[in-house]
Amino acid sequence: MRVAFIGLGNMGGGMAANLAKAGHEVAAFDLSQAALDRAKANGCTIAASAEAAVANAEAVVTMLPAGKHVAEVYRSTVFPNAPKSALLIDCSTIDVATAKSVEAEAKASGFVMVDAPVSGGIAAADGGTLTFMVGGSDDGFARAKALLDKMGKTVIHAGDAGAGQAAKICNNMLLGATMAATCEAFVLAEKLGLDAQTFYDISSKASGQSWSMTSYCPVPGVGPETPADRNYDGGFAAALMLKDLKLAMEAAKEAGAYTPMGGEAEELYQRFVDRGGAGKDFSALIKMIDDSWVAP
Ligand code: NAD
Repeated sequence: MRVAFIGLGNMGGGMAANLAKAGHEVAAFDLSQAALDRAKANGCTIAASAEAAVANAEAVVTMLPAGKHVAEVYRSTVFPNAPKSALLIDCSTIDVATAKSVEAEAKASGFVMVDAPVSGGIAAADGGTLTFMVGGSDDGFARAKALLDKMGKTVIHAGDAGAGQAAKICNNMLLGATMAATCEAFVLAEKLGLDAQTFYDISSKASGQSWSMTSYCPVPGVGPETPADRNYDGGFAAALMLKDLKLAMEAAKEAGAYTPMGGEAEELYQRFVDRGGAGKDFSALIKMIDDSWVAP
């Protein structure tokens, strides 16, 4: 299949490479020359412009930073230049309102479009093991799944347009809040004289258990190997967690949902990012909570 891929950054670079590896003809475009060079080395064809990339496409995949980039690329480039038969797949994490409005414009222009944000970081993008949460029609989902299967291990139909973004931000709001609570519990346990490993052994088998504790423990040397064991480098950057929490709070405001725990998590991550933690893994929040945080 001829696939146009726009946005070849940390995530899109590996995803485009996996499509090329699976035998698709990938016409790649990005504003960054370094990203284009990497895509070329990974078997993609470099397009001279975004217009040229989509002109002959059977599918268009985008992996861009935020809603404003997605709206701009689809309105100015994809809708006017791609064949109407091309399936449009936006994998970026963006606000629900923009996802819905861009999909409505796509439909009005005669395209089928789905939102398909991902769970999993750069390693999962490179390794083709992402989880995709897809919003769109049954037909759009079925057509998208064939391509998404080449970039991920799990592809789930979340519902209509925007439902993929809704699933993504609700999940990450839950993750941000459980990680903050897990960090607090470990710090309090220590101040009460409880050994971290002992607390882990008890709580990971008791009702306080969560993914943040048993799969991504924020304490070095406790539980499976995590970014905590690598000085909180790599993993899921606190800046990206903050982005997702802001999207969740924005959506909650629009929907009239009361999300006080999500609001607290947003405030904590904002403070951590303001203190220089943006590039650290999001579990490094524990260092701000135990008062030992020193900006790198
Ligand atoms: P990134 O900044 O590394 O990549 C974005 C790319 O888009 C850049 O290469 C940039 O040059 C390109 N770009 C921007 N505007 C463009 C335009 N108009 N035309 C062409 N190219 C353009 O970001 P990333 O880490 O790859 O993240 C991409 C998306 O995936 C974001 O929405 C992010 O929230 C989401 N996400 C990231 C991760 C992660 O761990 N990095 C995990 C899950 C989801």
